Amino acid sequence: MQCKKKKDGSGGKCKSDATSCCAKRILELQPDFKEQKSLVQEVIEECGHICIFLPKFHCELNFIEFFWGAVKKYLCEHCDYTFKTLQENMLMALASISLQMIQKWEHRMDCWVAPYDVGLGVKEAQKKVREFSSKKYTSHRRVPETLAAQFG
Ligand SMILES: [Zn+2]
Repeated sequence: MQCKKKKDGSGGKCKSDATSCCAKRILELQPDFKEQKSLVQEVIEECGHICIFLPKFHCELNFIEFFWGAVKKYLCEHCDYTFKTLQENMLMALASISLQMIQKWEHRMDCWVAPYDVGLGVKEAQKKVREFSSKKYTSHRRVPETLAAQFG
């Protein structure tokens, strides 16, 4: 039914360009199988939300990580090592992060996406984000022409 591992441990995966190596590959290439959403995605979208899958190991693209980091920092700074205090502080920790801060993290994530989108690697993207962060803006609504030209 599917490509098996060989005795030497190699294999176990279909070749990327294979179209008919095994039943599993033939099925997964069928249009109705390709269009099938995961249960998680279906449930989220049924509730009226947008489901976005982010690449693994790229926390810079997931700005909720910065939110959780700030919440943890708040909790750490207001900690007396009791569960009661943790419970009391949790809502305050969540409320301590302003919408403007979340928007800044989202904007920084956009700064990462643009270089990735044109095919740059992590190090080059990091350089672009630093350049972007160090530039002075006259308006938060306008992207400088140099960057607009660079990233289309
Ligand atoms: Zn296969």
